[in-house]
Amino acid sequence: MKKLLVPLFLIVYINSGLAQNFITKPGFFKSEMENDMADKVIKALDQLYQDMADHDLSGEFLTASHQDLTMAVLNRYLISPLKRRRTRLGNFTNQIMHLYPIAAEKCMVSIGHITKTTSELQYQISLIADISGPKITFSNPLHHYARYWKKQRIGNITYHFRESINVARALAFDEKNSMIAEKFGISPDKFDFYMCDDEQEVLNLLGVGLMAERTGQTRNGFGVYLKTICSIMNHEDFSHDVFHYYSGKVNASKNRNWITEEGVAYLWGNAYYTDKNGEMISHSRLVNELKAYMTQNADTDLLDLFTNNTKIFKDIAPEISVTSTISGIFAQEVEDQKGMEGVQLLINCGSKNRMENYFKAIESLLGVTKKNFNKRLAQLIAKYE
Ligand SMILES: [Zn+2]
Repeated sequence: MKKLLVPLFLIVYINSGLAQNFITKPGFFKSEMENDMADKVIKALDQLYQDMADHDLSGEFLTASHQDLTMAVLNRYLISPLKRRRTRLGNFTNQIMHLYPIAAEKCMVSIGHITKTTSELQYQISLIADISGPKITFSNPLHHYARYWKKQRIGNITYHFRESINVARALAFDEKNSMIAEKFGISPDKFDFYMCDDEQEVLNLLGVGLMAERTGQTRNGFGVYLKTICSIMNHEDFSHDVFHYYSGKVNASKNRNWITEEGVAYLWGNAYYTDKNGEMISHSRLVNELKAYMTQNADTDLLDLFTNNTKIFKDIAPEISVTSTISGIFAQEVEDQKGMEGVQLLINCGSKNRMENYFKAIESLLGVTKKNFNKRLAQLIAKYE
């Protein structure tokens, strides 16, 4: 009998360890919801957190509609940052901050993630709990927050916005969306495009009230995830990442060389970031800036600029890369000489040892070597007007 008691005790102990409560209630917690319904939602939320605890998310506790978007947002703004920091949800106090009804059988929940070691709030995530079915499930609040926004369809893009959009820019983006898809031989996708003033507004719209790593940052958008885009600095053109999106559909990630990827994204799309006037930066503008830089700096070593990504475009935008600008020039030459087949070889020259593989690819496609790099590139730059 004694022999049996010990294992039973152990089983109970181990089980209680597994059923750790992830969600805690702070002293200030209040809710207009019935106590037992509030407890049910918190219990379901706890199950979702159990599901995410090991940096994985099965989708079992997510609402079927918008499930992929909910997963993408949780992965990008909570699970991946924790993974990068080599920490886990269990190292945080995950505190329920808000729980309130927003519609029949729907409520908003907001969870603050406070580090146990420093007691600092580092992440805050909001989700909509759907309490209509036999099981409570959770989804991203984007569609709820934007439900009263205006909508306008421009080609394959449905813009969601508060006041107005710049139709000329939207038309240009729609055209680029079709052009890039067609280059890869696939049909263009339809996108839902949410116009946001800056990155903090993007985060709020996606239910990310706070992300420690992105505090005070304004310049990034979101997407393309589940055909959803949130703008970069309220600009209608998202073609830089649309290029990466289509390339990712066609090419295997182990082959994709990110020196080429960025160059082609600059060339066919734009430089991703806006300039000081809120305009997107085209590749041809950057090549002309590079030309002007070479005139002012007669001893410019283009190979050195390319390999060290020297910051020469600071006056336009701090993030702009001369490596990507030059890679775009070579991509154009490959396209002119070898067509899309050549561009695909350049894109797929390998994700590892990217610089080495890139040099091998431009040598085999264009005969450009480190030795003749400066001369050949200067000849290509001279073609631009
Ligand atoms: Zn890029």
